[in-house]
Amino acid sequence: MTDPTAAVVTRDDPRYPALVEGYNHRFVGRPEQIRLARDADDVRAAVQEAVDSGRRVAVRSGGHCFEDFTAHPDVRILIDLSALDHVGHDPARDAFVVEPGARLDHVYRTLHDGWGVTIPAGTCFEVAAGGHIAAGGYGPLSRRDGLVVDHLAAVEAVVVGADGRARVVVGTSDPGDPHHDLWWAHTGGGGGSFGVVTKYWLRTPGTPDAEPSRQLPRAPRAVLRRDTMWSWDAVSEADFTTLLRNYCTWYEENSKPGAPATALWSNLIITHRSGTMLMLTSVIPDDAPDAAEILHSHTEAIARGIQAAPMSATAETTDTAKTTDTTETAPWLDTWLPSYSWPSDPAGRYKNKAGYLRRGFSDAQIAAIYRHLSSTDYDNPMGCLVVTGFGGQVGAVAPEATAAAQRDCILKASYSTGCWTDPADDERHLAWVRAYYRDVYAHSGGVPVPDAINDGSYIGYPDTDLADPEWNRSGLDWSALYFKENYPRLQRAKQEYDPLDVFHHGLSVRLP
Ligand SMILES: Cc1cc2nc3c(=O)[nH]c(=O)nc-3n(C[C@H](O)[C@H](O)[C@H](O)COP(=O)(O)OP(=O)(O)OC[C@H]3O[C@@H](n4cnc5c(N)ncnc54)[C@H](O)[C@@H]3O)c2cc1C
Repeated sequence: MTDPTAAVVTRDDPRYPALVEGYNHRFVGRPEQIRLARDADDVRAAVQEAVDSGRRVAVRSGGHCFEDFTAHPDVRILIDLSALDHVGHDPARDAFVVEPGARLDHVYRTLHDGWGVTIPAGTCFEVAAGGHIAAGGYGPLSRRDGLVVDHLAAVEAVVVGADGRARVVVGTSDPGDPHHDLWWAHTGGGGGSFGVVTKYWLRTPGTPDAEPSRQLPRAPRAVLRRDTMWSWDAVSEADFTTLLRNYCTWYEENSKPGAPATALWSNLIITHRSGTMLMLTSVIPDDAPDAAEILHSHTEAIARGIQAAPMSATAETTDTAKTTDTTETAPWLDTWLPSYSWPSDPAGRYKNKAGYLRRGFSDAQIAAIYRHLSSTDYDNPMGCLVVTGFGGQVGAVAPEATAAAQRDCILKASYSTGCWTDPADDERHLAWVRAYYRDVYAHSGGVPVPDAINDGSYIGYPDTDLADPEWNRSGLDWSALYFKENYPRLQRAKQEYDPLDVFHHGLSVRLP
C-alpha cells in the first residue's frame, strides 16, 4: 500500500528545495505544501483542499515557465504533476494520450519508437506537455504540421464550479460536445487559467480509425542540417542588416501552407556582441521532395550580399575554409533534436520577451536591434535575438478555430537575456532587455501591437511587462497582444470553468 503522506512535501522535507526549483531561478516559490499527484483524483483532492481552506493553488508540470506563475509568494499549495507522465495510445478514445508531466523527450521518444509518429512541439526536452500544449506548442515541424494544438482531440481537467466543488471534466474537439469550450480554451489559452489538465489526447483531424501509426504526423527519419556562423568581429552594420532582411524575406516568400519549402525550418540566433556569434541553423527532413536543393537555396538566399565570410559550415567541424554549401545528414531523434535541446542551468536567472512577425522587421526595428546587440555598455553573451521559422501549415487554420490567434505569421522573435546567478545583477540585465525590446517596438508604445508587420506575442513566452503600463504604453491591453479577438471567448470559458478564479497568475485569463 502506498503511503499517502509521501505525496505531500512540506518545507522541512529534504525533497522540498529541489521541488520548488524550476527553469528560471529569478522565481523560486515557498509553498506550504507540494502535492505530488499521481492521478486525476489526487489532483482533485488537492484542489478541493486548497479551495476549502482558502489557500492559493498553482500547478506545475515541467517548471519551464518564464515568469512567476507557479512560484508567486502567495501560492500556498503547489501541485506537481511530474509523476503524471504516461504517453501511449488509448484505444478507448482511439487517440494518443499524453499526461501533463511528460517531458518532450519522453513524448518524442515514446511516439517515435512505438508508432513512428510525432508532434510539432518544441526543441527543449525538459519542457513538459502540461504548460506547452495549453499554450499552443510549436517547433521545428510546425511549418510542415502546424501547432501541437492542431492535433489536440480532447482534454481532461480538474475544474472548480461556482459551488466550490472540484470535479473532473473532459472536453473534446467535437463542436457538439457540451464541454467543447474547455477543449478550445486549451488550444492556446495558456496554462494556469482554467483548471488542472490531467490528460491530453492527440490525433490529427481526419485520420483513419484504429490506425495509430497514421493518427499523428510521421516522424522524420533524418534531417539535412546546415549551420552557418558569422563572427561579430567580421560583421558590419550593413552585413547585419542584410542578414536580417534576407532571412525575413525568405520567410515572406516561402511560408504559404503546403509550399514545398515549408518542410524547412531554421533558427537565427544573434548573440550580443560579447557572445561573438551570429548563427543560422537550418534543417529539412531528408526525404522531403527536393530537400537538398531547398536547403541550398535557402542558405544561399540568406547569405547573399553579406561581405563577411562565414566562420564554419557544419556542427562537426570548425574548419574555417569550408564553404556554406556543406551540409550533414543527422538522425532526427537520436542526433539532431537532442543536439538542439538546451539543458537548464541549475541556477540560471532569465528574462525573456517575444513578438510575432507577419512580415520582415522594418528598417527602424533592425537598427534598434543592432544598436542594443552591439552596445558596448552591456557585456552578456547570453543577451540575444532569436528569430524562429513559423508559418506554413500554421497558417492553414483559421484564427478563431483554436485559441491561438496568430495564424498568418511567418516568424517568431525572442529577445532575451539570461543565465546570470547573482540576484544583485537582476536590475542590470532586466534594464538592458527591457530597453532593447521597448526600442524595437518604439513605434507602437514599446510592445508588438498587431499591424502589417507585428502581431502581438505568444502566451508560451509570457512577459508580465506587457501588463505593466510602464512598459506597455500602447493603450492596448496585454490580453489583446496575446489573444487578439479570441479573448472574449476565453473569458466566457473562464466564467464557465473557473468562475471563482481559483487558477490565476499575472497573465491568466480574467473573468468577464
Ligand atoms: C528553454 C525553453 C525552451 C522553450 N522552447 C519552446 C519551443 O520550442 N516551443 C514552444 O512552443 N515553447 C517553448 N518554450 C515555452 C514552453 O512551452 C512554456 O514555457 C511552457 O508553458 C512550459 O510548460 P511546463 O509545463 O514545462 O512549465 P510549467 O512552469 O510547469 O507551467 C507553465 C504554465 O502552465 C501552467 N500549467 C502547467 N501544467 C499545467 C496543467 N497540467 N494544467 C494547467 N496548467 C498547467 C502552469 O501553472 C504555468 O502557468 C520554451 C521554454 C523554455 C524555458
